[in-house]
Amino acid sequence: MILEKLAQDIVIGDGGAIFELERRGYVSAGPFTPQVVIEHPEAVRELQTEFARAGADVIQALAYYAHKGKLRDVGLEGALEEINAGAVRIARGVADEYGLIVSGNLSNTWVYDPGDASSEKETRQQFDDQIGYQIGHGVDFFIAETIEYLGEAKIALEAVRAAGKPSMITLGFKADDKTLDGVVLENAFRELEDLGADIVGINCFRDPGMMLPYAKRLRDAVSCFVATQPVAYRCSHDKPYFQIQEFEGKVAFPLELDPFVLTRFEMAKYAMDARDMGVNYIGGCCGTAPHHIRAMAEALGRTAPNSKYSPALDLHSIIGDEKHIKEKDPRILCEQKYGRAHCHFLTQGGEE
Ligand code: ZN
Repeated sequence: MILEKLAQDIVIGDGGAIFELERRGYVSAGPFTPQVVIEHPEAVRELQTEFARAGADVIQALAYYAHKGKLRDVGLEGALEEINAGAVRIARGVADEYGLIVSGNLSNTWVYDPGDASSEKETRQQFDDQIGYQIGHGVDFFIAETIEYLGEAKIALEAVRAAGKPSMITLGFKADDKTLDGVVLENAFRELEDLGADIVGINCFRDPGMMLPYAKRLRDAVSCFVATQPVAYRCSHDKPYFQIQEFEGKVAFPLELDPFVLTRFEMAKYAMDARDMGVNYIGGCCGTAPHHIRAMAEALGRTAPNSKYSPALDLHSIIGDEKHIKEKDPRILCEQKYGRAHCHFLTQGGEE
């Protein structure tokens, strides 16, 4: 189903559920594990409903870090099946209501070590366990995301292919354009395509501005479907990934990223730039909230289920049109009407 849809049109992904649920008080920053699925399933359902109403075509099961290694850290190794199965069931329920596609989810295992051949078996086992617990509950395809080693991505791809589902494999790039096992991105993605990946892409770490130049190279390197899911936190050439942004002299990740959140207009522009580049699957990762997804969907010419509530600023009493404005503050009125430069005479105390 995902592949048929991609053959016809752009597919809009969803946003960054783990970071959004952390902000809402249902996920602990640190382990970032998704036990919210069994402890507060209504919170997951609500957020996924918000992504659906904002125009997402795919709901990702919230199984990020629902693998043995991470669940052991929070004493929930025994809940592996319950969390993985529950994550898909919740996503399936929302997707059915809105006519959407459900992806299963695999993520970086933190077990894989390119210098230790025995880690390959453990990595594969973690992927197989998650796939096995997710697959029976309504998964259309699997996304394996935030993987930094080509070797680990290949194991994820093999596991998804063995399960007989379409695969979307997305790699994360921090400081440069190479995987952690030293493979430049074009070669890494070509190898994944040759091994049968249906969709390859880039997710997390970088914002749209820092990710799209890599996406362009990816687009030129492969002929299969391409995906981008950047973070919605502002990065820069000096600091191209979100984990090293600084706020007031300290690293802002992961608790002080609020000042870096991109606006809905920036994410809308990203969606159009990605489309123009030939990206097929356009979504968001950490920091991407439902309002970003709606702006992206509308920028791509869609009407989202909640477009009914999209901005209607002409009706605003402070910045609306002639008929609706009730504001008395001359500065707001002047700047709105003529622009800031023109209204310079209204600013006080020589402020520029
Ligand atoms: Zn992310």
